[in-house]
Amino acid sequence: MRIGETVEDVVFRAEARAWLEASIPRERRPHRTGDAQRAYDVAWRRRQFDAGWGHIAWPERYGGRGLPLSRQLIWYEESARAGAPDHTGNSFFVALQHAGPTLIARATEDQQTFHLPRILRGDAIWCQGFSEPGAGSDLAGIRTRGVVEGDEIVVTGQKIWTSYALYASYQELLIRTEPGSRRHRGLTFVICDMSLPGIDVRPIRNIAGGTDFCEVFYDEVRMPVSSVVGGLGNGWDVAMSLLSFERGAASFPVAIETARRIDELIDYARAALPALDGSALGERLAQARADAAALQAMVHLLIARDSAPAEGSYIRLCLAELGRRASALAMDVLGPEALDREAFDEWPRRYLEDFKLTIAAGTSQIQRNIIGERVLGLPRQGKAA
Ligand SMILES: Cc1cc2nc3c(=O)[nH]c(=O)nc-3n(C[C@H](O)[C@H](O)[C@H](O)COP(=O)(O)OP(=O)(O)OC[C@H]3O[C@@H](n4cnc5c(N)ncnc54)[C@H](O)[C@@H]3O)c2cc1C
Repeated sequence: MRIGETVEDVVFRAEARAWLEASIPRERRPHRTGDAQRAYDVAWRRRQFDAGWGHIAWPERYGGRGLPLSRQLIWYEESARAGAPDHTGNSFFVALQHAGPTLIARATEDQQTFHLPRILRGDAIWCQGFSEPGAGSDLAGIRTRGVVEGDEIVVTGQKIWTSYALYASYQELLIRTEPGSRRHRGLTFVICDMSLPGIDVRPIRNIAGGTDFCEVFYDEVRMPVSSVVGGLGNGWDVAMSLLSFERGAASFPVAIETARRIDELIDYARAALPALDGSALGERLAQARADAAALQAMVHLLIARDSAPAEGSYIRLCLAELGRRASALAMDVLGPEALDREAFDEWPRRYLEDFKLTIAAGTSQIQRNIIGERVLGLPRQGKAA
């Protein structure tokens, strides 16, 4: 375990701070239309890539800097400090936070060489095709099938809640390729080109009015066997690697962003509410700030210890619960003013959007199951001790 920052870390932090201060977009990310959001996200991604900040931890041969995860964390901290566009709510979240890391861990050299630089340059948005109607928490229940015909797989079925599907070039797609197989067996993870004939994407409007997620239908879609990651029939194993990134390292920037938002809320509350000190609301704000600090400390600890993947579920669970609590707290701070959507667009919108936090990437109940079974060693669900 390493404690504290090295001289190199300090130098890196200063370099990152200087670049971010000079380079972040002056205008805020639009949040009314998907097309404008995508254009904003692509432009910001390309600006980072062109200046050599495409990714801190990815290998240099794909356009990253090849530095340890602790430096990536510094990058997230400095981004939040500078008020840079959020690392979490943007079109490249799936590509950067779990598709890319999974390809680095599990894909062939050809797949890596093709896809990773495209992600970093901002040329390819990714989405995730795991959940189906009837198979969300119970991912092993998926039914979308792939029939292997020569060097092609013919895919038929449906996915749901597919974030960014409307704009994605590629998808992390989990399908059942072994006829008659059950549960975790006979699944395959394939990189699905979203422009293939037979794919139909239908947006779903969420509670905040956005259409980030969609239903995706596959009608005999032919994809090459060469787009399989990890081998035919090994999809469950690859999906578990992916989920360990989605529930672990992908939560790190969200934790840092959440802490920043809570600080901003406290600054606003101090200015707007003279009787804050000693009030119940003041105490709730102080508690939220303390929880955010504890969460960040947990992130540092996980990185320093290079912990087991299941431990990422601690972060995911605490983060989801804190994020929702902070948004509700903001509504109490703003009071009726929150209805003035021109003046206070961000918090009311986040309040609605943050309902997702305890559902996406595995619900809070599922994270508790993982912590119980895989970290604490409690008996598996449905099994006696
Ligand atoms: C904003 C958002 C974005 C998403 N993006 C994507 C995406 O891009 N790609 C994708 O594939 N999916 C995505 N999802 C889907 C998400 O992964 C699922 O919604 C989630 O896994 C829950 O599945 P479900 O909705 O089918 O609920 P269910 O699994 O039906 O769960 C219903 C309730 O039962 C509880 N429950 C279920 N099983 C257990 C158990 N064993 N023990 C205790 N409680 C249990 C759950 O906690 C929940 O409260 C997204 C979801 C949201 C909200």
